Amino acid sequence: MNFLDDAEPFRIKMVEPIRKTTREEREKLVKAADFNIFKIPAENVFIDMLTDSGTSAMSSKQWGGIMTGDESYAGSSSFYHLRDSVQDIMGFPYVQPTHQGRAADFIMSQLYASKGGYILGNLHFDSFKGHSEIAGSIPVDLIIEEGRTANSNPYPFKGNMDLEKLEKFISEKGSQNIPLIIITVTSNGNGGQPVSMENIRSVSSIAKANNIPLMIDAARFAENCYFIKKREKGYENKSVKEIAKELFSYADGCVMSSKKDGLVNIGGFICTRHEELFPMINQLAIINEGFVTYGGMSGRDLEALAIGLQEGIDEEYLKYRIEQVQYLGEELFKRGIPIILPTGGHGVYIDAQKFYPHIPQKEFPGQALVIELYKTAGVRGVELGSCAFSKKDKETGKIIFPDLELVRLTVSRRVYTNRHMDVVINALEDVFKRRDKMKGLKLTYEGPIISLRHFTAKFEMIA
Ligand SMILES: *Cc1c(COP(=O)(O)O)cnc(C)c1O
Repeated sequence: MNFLDDAEPFRIKMVEPIRKTTREEREKLVKAADFNIFKIPAENVFIDMLTDSGTSAMSSKQWGGIMTGDESYAGSSSFYHLRDSVQDIMGFPYVQPTHQGRAADFIMSQLYASKGGYILGNLHFDSFKGHSEIAGSIPVDLIIEEGRTANSNPYPFKGNMDLEKLEKFISEKGSQNIPLIIITVTSNGNGGQPVSMENIRSVSSIAKANNIPLMIDAARFAENCYFIKKREKGYENKSVKEIAKELFSYADGCVMSSKKDGLVNIGGFICTRHEELFPMINQLAIINEGFVTYGGMSGRDLEALAIGLQEGIDEEYLKYRIEQVQYLGEELFKRGIPIILPTGGHGVYIDAQKFYPHIPQKEFPGQALVIELYKTAGVRGVELGSCAFSKKDKETGKIIFPDLELVRLTVSRRVYTNRHMDVVINALEDVFKRRDKMKGLKLTYEGPIISLRHFTAKFEMIA
């Protein structure tokens, strides 16, 4: 028995008080926010599980880096620290910082997307999808069947690409019509599910055989590498760093949102191994981001990221990180709460339709659960279901509801302790016991673009 394993591998040097509101206050707040959780001021949230993006706690070393960061416009030493740190972990020789991951996505779309070309991925992330569509490409998701459904099938790598479908797609459409393949690690779109090394290796060899470049969307690469170490045969004795090196060795480059596994609050970058592509990357960065050695980031942020990337692959940290999410998921599962299993890297996803079987999708069962959880314990989750992901039929104007009605509880990195997780667990248990009485919601306002409506929607409770 290793008694040390039961606790967080850090102690707390600085605290941020969080306010304990009463149920009465929260009922007023949520009503004033038109039952839209995005409109609740964060100071009234006790445990914020809206996103894991840009919400990490930095270490004392990183805060030291904030003080020593070099703010030179050109050739900042903090840029070289970042470049060295990226090269050390990912092995790519050419590194361009950007202000966020989506700016790296934009540069990638300018490099690779072609009019009418198909861009194949496991599950594309929205920001790249948008940029590639603007550039005239067609993003196609080819994730394995096990990754598409909210069942509890314990498949260990639900982020994998379907290799048969990939080969079939390439032979049907012709490799000349496929400008790029992207693998997102972990797969954000279905709950932070990992991709196996074997799958990445196979996709890479298919891509090479067909002369198609392969990029990695690396936002949560460290969490993915930890899952490989824990779940894939042959990797149990390798370090996460060795695993990361191998993973990236199969790709032509990567894009990164540093707001996740970079353990910082802002930033991103794009890497390539191709010298001939780098001038174009640099110039796109100059017009959109800033000069090549800062790319829209301040020197101190480059410095904190250089350190954060190294801390992000620390195995004690990753063990704590992945096991905290697992703990939350397992405790909810024990209480009969329907969640997607296995839990992924960055959060727990509740099947809200199973939670509230009596509420139809047109009455937003996911949103109802988000609201009741906030009222009960000041915990803010997010709906990923009939409000966020519905589409309109182009001809009839009829609403098409998504297959899955989910509520996501993301866990910020190094921010909350397991006692906070216990608050979430106990509150959800209470909400679950009262589930039969819960009513749905009526949408009273939505903005002009349906795919963005969840950010500004207004609701009323159905009496
Ligand atoms: C967050 C994210 C992005 C976009 O990054 P930002 O830093 O938020 O702009 C791209 N891809 C994935 C997989 C992400 O999770």
